[in-house]
Amino acid sequence: MLFRAVRGMKDLFDTDWEKYHYIVEQAIKLGKQHGYKIIETPILEYTDVFQRSIGDETDVVSKEMYTFIDRGEESVTLRPEGTAGVIRAVITNNLVQNLPIKLMYHGPMFRYDRPQKGRYRQFHQIGFEHIGDKSPYADALAISLAFNILSSLGIIDFKICINTLGDDETKKSYGKAIVKFFSRHKEDLSEDSQRRLEKNPLRILDSKDNKDREICSMAPLMTDYLNKESGNYFDKVCDLLKQFGIPYELDNFLVRGLDYYSHTAFEILSLKSSGAICGGGRYDKLVQEFGGPDVSGIGFAFGAERVMNLLGNSVIPSQKCKFAVIPISDNECDIALQVLRELHNSALSAEFIHNGTISKKMKIAYRLMCDIALIIGETEKNNQTITVKFMRDNNDKGKMITIDLSMLSSFAKYYISKSISK
Ligand code: AMP
Repeated sequence: MLFRAVRGMKDLFDTDWEKYHYIVEQAIKLGKQHGYKIIETPILEYTDVFQRSIGDETDVVSKEMYTFIDRGEESVTLRPEGTAGVIRAVITNNLVQNLPIKLMYHGPMFRYDRPQKGRYRQFHQIGFEHIGDKSPYADALAISLAFNILSSLGIIDFKICINTLGDDETKKSYGKAIVKFFSRHKEDLSEDSQRRLEKNPLRILDSKDNKDREICSMAPLMTDYLNKESGNYFDKVCDLLKQFGIPYELDNFLVRGLDYYSHTAFEILSLKSSGAICGGGRYDKLVQEFGGPDVSGIGFAFGAERVMNLLGNSVIPSQKCKFAVIPISDNECDIALQVLRELHNSALSAEFIHNGTISKKMKIAYRLMCDIALIIGETEKNNQTITVKFMRDNNDKGKMITIDLSMLSSFAKYYISKSISK
């Protein structure tokens, strides 16, 4: 029987691994410029951490969490998102002493969703949380950081959609208005949305069901229910984005999938593929919910796989010159290993290829994308020389020369500087 990876979970290797780490590196570099520090929280948290913060009625908590009872009879959950764990960590480690604080993270997240293109059960997020600064400046700067990260990756085919969910008062009065509205259409709503109507009516606006969406298009708009303070707050965020030259679109139906958002909510959508590549927003009550002070935060996270999908191969670092060290028979292995170690000690890339006939060894060297073969047979061993075969260089390809063993380092360095200067 062949073992398979768990459904919806992928092995990350080769060019995808390069792309993932390139994105993380770029995001961290820009995050640091904006004053963010890295935090790594455990992948596993007590289930309450997510249940209480994300909200029982959200899809993530009600259908998608990997939750199990551990050997100590505790209910634990593989993290479905990063914010809740970061806020938990801020409180656990008493980082609230240092507010405001900016933290960034990256790593795998887990959601038991239906796998399809761009949607996995294990995926990676790169996220940012700015906690303890409630101001439109913080919101606009967060959106601007997300924009800058994508631009620095050379990604331009995207749009930023923003909305405001207002403060508690706004959410309450708007909540009443939409309950009244959706109650009139209850029979036509999907089963999920009928349930949401009882427990979390705002989330009906987020429904992907076609009939629900049709009804939503006639629903009252949040903007008509914003109290003065929430309206002014959002206007200021929009003004700042204009000032920063960041293009955005207003989307009145953007409510985001998690319960903890208030005021600014945003998503970045690819113009090339479906599904958001980034999502975030302000959370007013989350820190308090975890037993911390009454402070607000703003955060966002990129879905790494979706960003990788938009990234060309040009970001994959091109391989520097690589050597294949090839003894013709076992008798030359000792001297070939010396050569290999000398190259490694000079921080050069080299493979030791010793299996099979010489033609098989050469084939392996080609497959490993080696540029130069250093071949050592009986004659070379006796004369303390190396036969050099150029395998890839356009001008020299196929050429063979002999060099003295003592010249190895200077030859290798000369060849590398020649190939870099091309
Ligand atoms: P969310 O925490 O749901 O706001 O997600 C933030 C970002 O993570 C989204 O914009 C997606 O890019 C990505 N994402 C969320 N769920 C998945 C998934 N199941 N597979 C791949 N990426 C995902």
